[in-house]
Amino acid sequence: MYRPMLRQFELVDIVRSYDPGTDENLLNKAYVFSLKAHGVQRRESGDPFFSHPVEVAGILTRFKFDHLTIAAALLHDTIEDTVATLNEIQTEFGLEVAYVVDGVTKLSKLDLKSEDTKQAENFRKLVLAMANDIRVLFVKLADRQHNMQTLHYIKDPHKRQKIAKETLDIYAPLASRVGVQKMKETLEDFAFREINPQAYETTHKRLEFLCDSLAQPLEDIEADLEALLKKTGVHARVFGRLKTPYSIWKKIMTQNTTFEQLCDILAFRVVVPSLAECYQALGVLHSEYWVVPGRFKDYISTPKVNNYQSLHTAVISPKYQRMEIQIRTEEMELEAEYGIAAHWQYKQNVKAHDGKKYLWIRSLLQIMEQANNPEEFLENTKLEMFQEQVFCFSERGELIVLPKDVTPIDFAYAVDSWLGDHISEVKINGKSMPLRTVLQNGDQIQIITSEDQMPLPVWEKFVRTGKARTHIRQFIRAQQKKKMIQRGKEKLAAALGLKKEKIKEPALTPLLSTFSCSTLADFYEALGEDILDVAEVAQTLHKKKF
Ligand code: MN
Repeated sequence: MYRPMLRQFELVDIVRSYDPGTDENLLNKAYVFSLKAHGVQRRESGDPFFSHPVEVAGILTRFKFDHLTIAAALLHDTIEDTVATLNEIQTEFGLEVAYVVDGVTKLSKLDLKSEDTKQAENFRKLVLAMANDIRVLFVKLADRQHNMQTLHYIKDPHKRQKIAKETLDIYAPLASRVGVQKMKETLEDFAFREINPQAYETTHKRLEFLCDSLAQPLEDIEADLEALLKKTGVHARVFGRLKTPYSIWKKIMTQNTTFEQLCDILAFRVVVPSLAECYQALGVLHSEYWVVPGRFKDYISTPKVNNYQSLHTAVISPKYQRMEIQIRTEEMELEAEYGIAAHWQYKQNVKAHDGKKYLWIRSLLQIMEQANNPEEFLENTKLEMFQEQVFCFSERGELIVLPKDVTPIDFAYAVDSWLGDHISEVKINGKSMPLRTVLQNGDQIQIITSEDQMPLPVWEKFVRTGKARTHIRQFIRAQQKKKMIQRGKEKLAAALGLKKEKIKEPALTPLLSTFSCSTLADFYEALGEDILDVAEVAQTLHKKKF
């Protein structure tokens, strides 16, 4: 069924409500441009294709992204799926919008080819490395969220499975990494439903049953908690929710509990005005309710790697309802809801339109600077490291990680040294390219070899990796040696007056020590390089009755 989508003026109104400086013309232009570009295209659901970019833009308004990001979201599929070009987008909407659209287009072309889950981590790094601007990643995540919401319309079950698996392996962890927990949960749940429908159904039903048999409805518990805190002078906002089927399922799988034992289905969030009140609220709850042992965690004094901060505890209410409780300040709540995007918003407000690209990595580094435990520091260095790497695919879809600025020759040697020694041609993303081309993230490399091909001395000037350089040098040295051996042999034969007959090598071998050589090859090479004088050698051999 076709669901009416966000209309043009509605979208503009939403963006204007949180960003009064919104360029309405730009948003209107992007809306119309995308509408026209996608034209009569339809999704598998039967909806006009245009409903998709509009939904993606809608998802991003919940993160209060600026009008440029929203415009980019509206345009995100135009390069890939319509006749529109990057140049056109740049001319019409400016560099920043074009940059984000281009980034999303590139990410969309990536494809997890291998079934190997070990590659998932590398793949996530690749996505992060490509999303130089945090907004690229957020548009991509919103794109994935809407595609997951409409996944059931896709008819091919293999395609559905593949998308769901990719979502669980790549995009949900990425959403978590940039701190948008809600998006992570949404992605996980839609993926779970597709990958294991029976488990999803069972968990979902059990959750509903437990919810129906609660001693107290959710809203009453919320009110009780608020009232209890208010009595002690803490003015808190309390929200309750059911845990998600996927999080419940994961717990059952990893903690060996059963559905019957499952009672931990409610989670409450207590948002208070100040840091001190977090601990005050915790004290109140711990003294009024039974505390579930071993569940208290202080992520305020020790934040998670994605900068998540909260106090976590689990208690049992006087009505025997077990519940998980997260206590945090408004600021921590903003961070937990919007993740890195929250920082992006601050930044945007402080330094609006300073013309500089906002590098997401920089904002992450700022977060990390506040971190004081070694684990987080390590994570920080790791992130910096993979900004210095490039991720390419082999013909078979293997992901090969190399240092930045490498060439197809480096790539070939990294895969196999024979491949490097015999590379004659390369196709990058299906197109023949020079061997000195610098590889980019996500490039698909096809190495064409030839038996006769050998490394050229000039390669040494543009390869980047030690492995390639060492191999090229070794090969060239070996070639040089071969040439000198041949030359030495020919010179000696001439000096000895041999024409067609060969040098009698078995008789020559015992005499080599006279010339301080241990092997025939060394001896010929010395002759070839004129280290030994061929006339003298011939004379000496003559005296020895050779
Ligand atoms: Mn899309």
